[in-house]
Amino acid sequence: MKILLFGKNGQVGWELQRSLAPLGELVALDRHSTDLCGDLANLDGIGATVRQLRPDVIVNAAAYTAVDKAESDAALAHLVNAEAPGALADVASAVGAWLVHYSTDYVFDGSGSQPWKENDPTGPLCVYGRTKLEGEQRIAARCAKHLILRTSWVYAARGGNFARIMLRLAREGDRLSVIDDQFGAPTGADLLADVTAHMVRSALSGAAGRFAGTYHVAAAGETSWHGYARFVLECASRAGLALKASSYTVDPVPTTAFPTPAVRPHNSRLNTAKLQDSFGLYLPIWQQGVARMLTEIT
Ligand code: NDP
Repeated sequence: MKILLFGKNGQVGWELQRSLAPLGELVALDRHSTDLCGDLANLDGIGATVRQLRPDVIVNAAAYTAVDKAESDAALAHLVNAEAPGALADVASAVGAWLVHYSTDYVFDGSGSQPWKENDPTGPLCVYGRTKLEGEQRIAARCAKHLILRTSWVYAARGGNFARIMLRLAREGDRLSVIDDQFGAPTGADLLADVTAHMVRSALSGAAGRFAGTYHVAAAGETSWHGYARFVLECASRAGLALKASSYTVDPVPTTAFPTPAVRPHNSRLNTAKLQDSFGLYLPIWQQGVARMLTEIT
């Protein structure tokens, strides 16, 4: 089996390099790759890459993820998040490959408090969410053999992340203010990558199209950014880290305390029953992955 991965150096892409490796020959690209084009802004280039390699599976972990910047850079966000997935869908369909793609809870409007199901009405609040939704729609319309994984609040040990920012702020000052009216489940890039590998194996061994569709993938449980921050500081304190702030000095504040160019959903909870039932997979509680990541970065 041959797998072609786009976006190999992002949070999820990096972990996919590990989790997809045992499934077959893996060709992993980023936007700077030279032998083969891995730049999603170059639609002809990525098409030529797929036609040259003729992979069995294309995994697209690349995306325009700068949520606030997208508000003033909508053309590039649209090219990378909507047009490129559409182009990948066309060429995947032409060579008979599966297309695996990632999307986001930002396709929803964040209302209510129930975890979103896959076929709930969408209503993105920002440019990033709208472009990601259009990417999903183009794939679903143009490539029957697709797996779209919507996830939320992704973190990884590598690179900058929310936990690292909280630890830095807790070293610098004795009080933190963190948003307590947005809810979701922090989800590890490592978990997403491992789930992807299991899904790919099932999809390839099942009857054509049996597993095709959109799935919500997030760690179990839920919290707010405030609860997430408190958990990070509790773990850090148990690990003996010298911090000025503690989990008791994290003040809850509303979203309006930190105005941003892009509007973010309040309810990012995702219902993952379809994924668990369809693939027989279990999603661990979010604290488990965050605690493990903290042991790596502290
Ligand atoms: P990252 O921002 O960590 O990685 C995205 C990758 O895409 C980066 O390596 C980036 O490269 C690359 N990229 C950007 N533009 C291009 C381009 N034109 N051509 C090729 N590569 C490009 O994101 P994540 O790993 O966290 O996200 C993976 C997926 O999950 C995405 O589809 C995202 O929308 C989705 N998602 C992410 C969430 C999150 O909280 N992070 C939440 C929900 C969904 P470079 O570093 O060079 O810019």
